[in-house]
Amino acid sequence: MRKKIVAGNWKMNLDYSAGLSLFSEVLNMAKDEIIGDQLLVVCPPSLYVYSLSQMANQSTNVSVGAQNCHQAESGAYTGEISASMVKSVGAEYVILGHSERRQYFGETDQLLAEKVKAVIKTGLKPIFCIGETLQERNANSHFDVIKRQLTDGVFDLSAGDFSTLVLAYEPIWAIGTGVTASPEQAQEIHAFIRKEIEARYGDAVAEDTTILYGGSCNPKNAAELFSQKDIDGGLIGGAALKSRDFTDIAKVFN
Ligand code: 13P
Repeated sequence: MRKKIVAGNWKMNLDYSAGLSLFSEVLNMAKDEIIGDQLLVVCPPSLYVYSLSQMANQSTNVSVGAQNCHQAESGAYTGEISASMVKSVGAEYVILGHSERRQYFGETDQLLAEKVKAVIKTGLKPIFCIGETLQERNANSHFDVIKRQLTDGVFDLSAGDFSTLVLAYEPIWAIGTGVTASPEQAQEIHAFIRKEIEARYGDAVAEDTTILYGGSCNPKNAAELFSQKDIDGGLIGGAALKSRDFTDIAKVFN
């Protein structure tokens, strides 16, 4: 059985004390209300990862992740953070390839392939994001885009390394827009992703890969999205900034 995950991407939001309060609420709600074996992963700004990891120390169902890291192990890269630094402050996951990183920071599939390898090498798990723009969907090239992002970003990994990945399908037109992909649209892409994984790594790896949906996911639409056969949870932006909403989304798997 593949793992069900609901991950929260705080992006560049909340100051330190607001972040700690939100996370403390999430921890309490997760302890009292999450009764399944789903995992909650909270990805705050990197500065807060250490504190949140300390707070989550005793938790069995909440982990902490970063939102990005550099591909090099160390060196003269002013302002950057390496995967081993992220690991050393207690994170278990790193989001890579988010469309905002691709779009605003010029991250290419090739660069992301390097980052994925660096992250896996340190023993962290990447949450690797893929997804098409509205223009690409309207031009009916969304399947090609997804296939390219997989092929160039992660398909040169060994099967063993690939198995540490979590994938997240985030159609760019659904991020922060209030427009979600319909459950059918999301399922169609998730099934396609799983088929591509099967073609590359075989049936067992494909069956075990957790594929999250992201893009305007909220407590109202989560149940229908997550009931789709190939959707194993969500990568949540705006709704992850409210403890009640984030936990309610995760409770879909109770
Ligand atoms: P929203 O849930 O705010 O649409 O953001 C999704 C996202 O980008 C998560 O990484």
